[in-house]
Amino acid sequence: MNPETLRQQVRKQPFEAFRVYLSDGSHYDIRHPEMIAITQAASTLGSKWLNEASIYVTIEPCSMCAGALVLARIKNIVYGAKDPKTGACGSVINIVNHKKLNHRIKVEKGILEKECGYLLKEFFRKKRAKQQ
Ligand SMILES: [Zn+2]
Repeated sequence: MNPETLRQQVRKQPFEAFRVYLSDGSHYDIRHPEMIAITQAASTLGSKWLNEASIYVTIEPCSMCAGALVLARIKNIVYGAKDPKTGACGSVINIVNHKKLNHRIKVEKGILEKECGYLLKEFFRKKRAKQQ
């Protein structure tokens, strides 16, 4: 898919661009908030580089999002809660400050950690309740 087609698709159906279809007809979503934010910021600014941008998230980005943030050359990441299972800003691995990568990101962590932890617990509690 060429970049302009992807840009048009993201504008029309922002979440569809983050759906991965498998050969058996099933699909899964990779629409983490960071991926959506990167795509929308790049589309709005008309640039794939977000050198002066900061991203604020409730939980530490995963490895997919951390990698995308490095590729987008985000300047700062601010997050509340650590993710001891998949966090890629230092908890499990540190992609955003890996010395072999060509871009590093300033990270501020633990901002409103307790409140962010509460929001996440509530989000997943409601999601589980819907599934039952
Ligand atoms: Zn993620």
